Amino acid sequence: MMTTVQTPELWAAALHQAATLLQHSRCPLLISHPRPDGDTVGSALALRLALIRLGKAPQLACAHPLPEALACLPGAAAYQNVAPADEDLDLVVAVDLSDLNRSGGIYRETWRGKFPLLVIDHHETNEHFGDVNLVDPAAVATALPMTALIDVLGVPLDDAMATCLLAAVLTDTRGLRTANTSPEVLHFVGRLIEAGGDYAGVMEKTLDSVPYQQMRAWGVALGNLRLDGALAWTTFPLAEKLSLGIADHDDLDLGNLISRVAEAQVMATFLEMRDGTVKVSLRSRPGYNVAPIAKALGGGGHQQAAGCSIPGTLDDAQARVLPLLRTALLKAAG
Ligand code: 5GP
Ligand code: MN
Repeated sequence: MMTTVQTPELWAAALHQAATLLQHSRCPLLISHPRPDGDTVGSALALRLALIRLGKAPQLACAHPLPEALACLPGAAAYQNVAPADEDLDLVVAVDLSDLNRSGGIYRETWRGKFPLLVIDHHETNEHFGDVNLVDPAAVATALPMTALIDVLGVPLDDAMATCLLAAVLTDTRGLRTANTSPEVLHFVGRLIEAGGDYAGVMEKTLDSVPYQQMRAWGVALGNLRLDGALAWTTFPLAEKLSLGIADHDDLDLGNLISRVAEAQVMATFLEMRDGTVKVSLRSRPGYNVAPIAKALGGGGHQQAAGCSIPGTLDDAQARVLPLLRTALLKAAG
């Protein structure tokens, strides 16, 4: 796992280098990860608005369409699901991506060496794959290093930018409930509200709104819920997605749903995908770290929320992942 010692000097240098890349760019491409969440979208949208203020022509790409809750954020309609032509970009910015696979096919390998790559992220599993890496694993959301960068660029936060950043920080902290919600995070949220961000609107549209079909799908997932000691997990077969009309890429937010099982310390969800893989979401309570397990399986994430995709059937994926989780539980207990 990538560990970097982050001194204030190194951080200031990374901020300066990131700002310089953006200042020299005319048409940067901002990439959000597939199954886009509030942080990858909100942080990218805020940067886009800041760059427009600086007279630039930023572009946005994400392999998957935005969920309804995020599609109404300022500027969200600008997202494309394919990369622009090479003539139309001069810088690539990866937002909330811990590795390049997380671009979902948007990033082209031919861009290596042709266009500079700027990485803005907060995953402890981040591979520092950019030419400049603004990666703060201590940050609760990419929105924080993003805001530090916007500050260095000298663009004042307006209400639209603040609303986008609120969507990022409020969703990644599940409504300011994760263990890493520090006084600094609450000050940051206060700053965003002061700048005119729509706190109540973001809460209502993201954390407090669940599409009807998704809630019905939760019924299926809760029916499949299992508990073994301090391990809780559920499965979601492809056939159920098809019968409920759920899009293949929609993860139904199942990881966050079952992370609330009181008896469990570690939780997992297994979603069968159309391409013959299983999308696995891992969650844990403080004291248990699921990031290395996801990383060892080719994915990544944070201590309390991580994920990966595994080829094979639901049974195959459970047979691979559940023993690793049981071992992690035993190790932490011992
Ligand atoms: P979720 O389980 O909600 O999809 O994701 C939880 C966390 O793990 C998020 O921070 C997400 O970025 C990360 N994550 C989920 N799946 C993958 C994956 O396949 N690869 C990587 N690198 N990170 C993932
Ligand atoms: Mn994030």
